Amino acid sequence: MTDCIFCKIVRGEIPSRQVFENEHVLAFHDIQPAAPVHVLIIPKKHIASANEMQPEDREVLGEVLLAAPAIARELGVAEGGYRLINNCGPDGGQVVYHLHVHLLGGEKLGGLNVKHP
Ligand code: 5GP
Ligand code: ZN
Repeated sequence: MTDCIFCKIVRGEIPSRQVFENEHVLAFHDIQPAAPVHVLIIPKKHIASANEMQPEDREVLGEVLLAAPAIARELGVAEGGYRLINNCGPDGGQVVYHLHVHLLGGEKLGGLNVKHP
């Protein structure tokens, strides 16, 4: 996916403020933070959305989720807590079609009736 912005971030063609990286995962600060801590955790592999996740992506997807507590600890929000969000498709509010998990924290977040992180 050469024109995907998150693939470009993975390739270093678009700068990002990275907070975590391993073989399968990259995480970086959201460009428009919706909370004091707002990090996007993505698989390096292009997976368009949760609808496109495949059984063979099991390890990569596990790594994406497992990165969350490590990042939360690193950024000092593990103890206070945080929220992990995946927006899928138009009704889910997905804008970038490269799977990502939002990690939001650093303040007491509102209820789950939020329209969009
Ligand atoms: P979605 O609505 O697809 O779940 O979330 C996409 C997120 O990506 C938004 O929160 C938006 O601010 C963020 N975003 C879009 N383009 C860029 C970018 O070029 N760099 C970074 N760091 N974040 C981006
Ligand atoms: Zn991509």
